[in-house]
Amino acid sequence: MAVKPILNIPDSRLSEKSHKVKEITPEVKKDIQDLLDTLMVAEDPEGAGLAAPQIGITKRICVVRQFFEDPLDPAKTLHEDIVLINPKIFSTSEETTIDWEGCLSVPDTYGKVERYSKIKVTAMDQDGNLIKLKADDLLARVIQHEIDHLDGILFTQRVVGQTLSEKALDQLFNGASLA
Ligand code: ZN
Repeated sequence: MAVKPILNIPDSRLSEKSHKVKEITPEVKKDIQDLLDTLMVAEDPEGAGLAAPQIGITKRICVVRQFFEDPLDPAKTLHEDIVLINPKIFSTSEETTIDWEGCLSVPDTYGKVERYSKIKVTAMDQDGNLIKLKADDLLARVIQHEIDHLDGILFTQRVVGQTLSEKALDQLFNGASLA
């Protein structure tokens, strides 16, 4: 188990384009484990995904977190971490959604970003098998955010309108969530 420090802006490594993974070597397996371990301890704020360049590894590997309801207790949310190697979006919906995003590499900053509502992705899994994945809603958003990291793009480059601190965002939601 190795928890790595998460790089923050303005670290220039976050702007680099990552390299394709050609085969699953022991080094790649270690990188994947480091990503999973680091995401696991990222609690405040909690991460919905993590890309290898965020821990200083310029390889096209990311982990995305899929949240679902606990079948035994609907009040609880469980999650599963999905490893995507060389992920590539091969199909998107025409529909897009604008919603709030944050990033473990951009502390205390939130902004609205437009993303495809639904995507289809190909990737390699940890065993080197080619997988296809359909994603919508939050998972689709997280995958697009993580693939951007692999291309050296931060969500702040895509923000529509202003960015807010966590405090300002909380105030906005507390004021608006009276339904
Ligand atoms: Zn991010």
